[in-house]
Amino acid sequence: MFSLFFRIKEVLKNTRLTTKITLFALLIIAVFIVIQIGFEILIMGRQTELLQYLPQHLLIILIFSISILLAGFFWGRSLVTPLKQMTTLLQEVRDCTNNEAGCTAIISIPVHTNDEVGQVAKAVNELVHTIREISIFRRTIEADETVEDIYLRLAHVFEHQLSLGMFVIYEFDSKRDALIPIYCQPADIQADLPELTGDRCRAKRTGAVVSSVDNPGICRMFPWPDALTHTCIPMTIGGQVVGVVQFMFPYVDNPMRQTCTARALQEARRYLQEALPVIQAKRYARAVEEMAVKDQLTGLYNRRYLELYIDNILAGIKRRNSTLCILMCDIDYFKKVNDEYGHDAGDIVLKDLGHILLSNVRASDLVIRFGGEEFLILLIDCTASDAMVTAEKLRDNFENHLIRLPGQNIKKTLSIGVSEFPTDSNAIWEAIKFADIALYKAKEAGRNRVMRFTPDMWQENSY
Ligand code: GH3
Ligand code: MG
Ligand code: MG
Repeated sequence: MFSLFFRIKEVLKNTRLTTKITLFALLIIAVFIVIQIGFEILIMGRQTELLQYLPQHLLIILIFSISILLAGFFWGRSLVTPLKQMTTLLQEVRDCTNNEAGCTAIISIPVHTNDEVGQVAKAVNELVHTIREISIFRRTIEADETVEDIYLRLAHVFEHQLSLGMFVIYEFDSKRDALIPIYCQPADIQADLPELTGDRCRAKRTGAVVSSVDNPGICRMFPWPDALTHTCIPMTIGGQVVGVVQFMFPYVDNPMRQTCTARALQEARRYLQEALPVIQAKRYARAVEEMAVKDQLTGLYNRRYLELYIDNILAGIKRRNSTLCILMCDIDYFKKVNDEYGHDAGDIVLKDLGHILLSNVRASDLVIRFGGEEFLILLIDCTASDAMVTAEKLRDNFENHLIRLPGQNIKKTLSIGVSEFPTDSNAIWEAIKFADIALYKAKEAGRNRVMRFTPDMWQENSY
């Protein structure tokens, strides 16, 4: 008896839902027939009446059977159709995450009821919607050019898709050992943000989410504890915190609003999770690119950078009908530093000069380590007379700068040759050569001086 029961259970396990409902309907019909006939014969003892009214009995049984079968059919269909649609939808989602086009073509299933099946369908739709949005987001950021573009896109999602109105995206800058705000919403809060150097940010220090919602006053660095709550989510890759996103909210007692906020934060974390590997890949790519165009000793751009970007710079100069000045700088008797104090001391001199050059020109100007101890400066939108003033300031600054070497301090001097593009030559590499010629003249004239290129220097034909 028991084994039969388990056999039936086992068979039913692998039977389709429509078959189960049909079997159930047939069982009800059979029970109905048995009850009707049994009632007439056994309880009422009306065998003859039963035979006499057989057509009527059969009609009742027929109507009942049809009703039960129809009810079973429609009920079964209302259950099976959404389940089939959900299965197809989930299969599409599974397949789309692997193909090129992504989940853009996937649409949600229609929900006609609010019963348990309808609720499951709604939940599936929401899940698929989230997967679809995140899949589109991921594909978009993969095609983005820079990390900054990805941060902008994240900010757009936080603000417009998740309705998170106040937040700051911080990126960790290992050189400065500080979290640097990359994006603020609203923008004007940037002025009041604290300086997050070293271990001052709790989320950065612990690598865990820091929220003042459950722990008021948890972070002493937060500037608005009386007006806002905050939740800080660290962006962690391989155990290292590479950034932090701080979300801020006005205090609310409304539980509905709190649930909405919690859900939005959950979604935000999902987007961050998706963006992190792409951000990291782009950061590595950027670092590799920078290594190719930057000098490791001074941190300045190298000659390769100049070769890559000079056309862009010149296009701007020509468009603005402007001029550009070239300063070719060379340390006087630099070899002596190496010979007397060693190569490391020479490196210190180079680093100091790089710093002086960079901090005495505009951010839009370009300082390049052109060769061993030769530095080339491009002063953008600058005339020769202004360039001479700048060059003199650089020379003077370096001459008076005390270079701190281990054990002693020294001073060195600088010679600079100046040329103007396109006045001296409208071929940039020739203009650079002219600055070099002027530099040679400065050396010849006794060093520690600035010389403006003049055409007669070139006519000598001695180079
Ligand atoms: P001048 O006044 O004529 O310019 O004389 P100088 O000694 O500065 O010129 P020279 O071109 O003879 O010497 C340049 C030296 O710079 C030679 C080279 O060993 C050194 N040098 C080049 N690159 C580096 C570097 O990265 N580090 C150090 N320490 N020295 C370097
Ligand atoms: Mg030199
Ligand atoms: Mg030299």
